[in-house]
Amino acid sequence: MEKSKEEIVKEMQLVAEQMVIDDLEENPDLANEYFECDCCGKNKCLAGSIQYGEYRLCNDCVLLAETGFALGKFNDIQALMDAMEDTRLEELCTFIKEEEKRADRQNSN
Ligand SMILES: [Zn+2]
Repeated sequence: MEKSKEEIVKEMQLVAEQMVIDDLEENPDLANEYFECDCCGKNKCLAGSIQYGEYRLCNDCVLLAETGFALGKFNDIQALMDAMEDTRLEELCTFIKEEEKRADRQNSN
């Protein structure tokens, strides 16, 4: 029987969670190591991240990518990168706004 979308999503969530667990078992220090995800642009934990070609994706984006592949939404990582461009820009804007707020606070002190 064909799997439903919900089943595929659930299965992928478990796979992604397991990646984090496996990474931390292999190298517990990863819990404190962060990188900027090439896909969502957020600062994310290295545990559970995966390198796809030239891009390193955080665990959340790995879940998006693998679910997308499994559901046939896209065939390569570039399609996801393109789809996530707005999210990356938003993240950058948020970061810049936060920095501005910080600068404002420092100026008013
Ligand atoms: Zn990400």
